[in-house]
Amino acid sequence: MPTLSQEWFTTWEVAPGIICIAEDQHEQEVRSYLVIGSERSLLWDAGMGVADIMREVERFVTVRPESLMMVCSHSHFDHVGDVWRFAEAGVPVHAHPAEAERIARGLSAEQCAHWLQADSLLGPLPTGFDPQTYMIRPATVTHLLNEGDVLDLGDRQFEVLHTPGHSPGGLCLWDATNGLLLSGDQAYAAPLYSYSPDAEPDVYRRSLRRLADLAPQVQTLLPSHDETPIPPALLVAMADAFDRIHDGNAADALVGRNDDGGHERAYDLYDFGGFQVRMRAGWGRKG
Ligand SMILES: [Zn+2]
Repeated sequence: MPTLSQEWFTTWEVAPGIICIAEDQHEQEVRSYLVIGSERSLLWDAGMGVADIMREVERFVTVRPESLMMVCSHSHFDHVGDVWRFAEAGVPVHAHPAEAERIARGLSAEQCAHWLQADSLLGPLPTGFDPQTYMIRPATVTHLLNEGDVLDLGDRQFEVLHTPGHSPGGLCLWDATNGLLLSGDQAYAAPLYSYSPDAEPDVYRRSLRRLADLAPQVQTLLPSHDETPIPPALLVAMADAFDRIHDGNAADALVGRNDDGGHERAYDLYDFGGFQVRMRAGWGRKG
């Protein structure tokens, strides 16, 4: 396998002991996070698999099974691309049971072909990377995570929050001592996806309300796309937005369409200023 250039990534310390590994050359602007702990470190997602995220991680910590754990926020392609690298290195791979099978299956080059089309790229692909061969390699989840589980890094503990809606096994990680929330794809300042086949708008709404209730304790909110960190007050605004759509009180939606895995899929697009909602067409009491 050729060595890939690493310019695909932008990497910086976004909060004390937390490295953001960003993929700004793709419109999704995916963010993975390396949380450096005193006993072990935690990698929250493994990016798109376009470049080699393990080499970015190795700039900060040694990749060893006893000192690093991989945690998947969920199984969508743009967050699990390089999980296989860590699985091959024997690093424990954690995910919710509802996401493990999809991570174990991976995605073929055919299924991935449309994600790297020119109009979704904001910069060059890494040299040494052949987009024709882009796929999500299968990786075995070795540890299943459920609501209330605790991940201990030594000087930092995360509680696992099961926050489904964007995807069935979507997780957030909550460090109450430091007021730090890793919100995955449940909450970020860009279009929230509540229309994909595995999204459940009613469930998403409940999860957002739960996160909104947590917002007064959140000091640092690190999402898995776009701007980071984002203001914790956005959690309340997002929960309110879903309520308004549900109750028919949101401003009129635009009808949008997205080429989602090769299938055109319609959604209602609501714009709330700091974020948008791509809602399953027709959801909510309209009219
Ligand atoms: Zn996702």
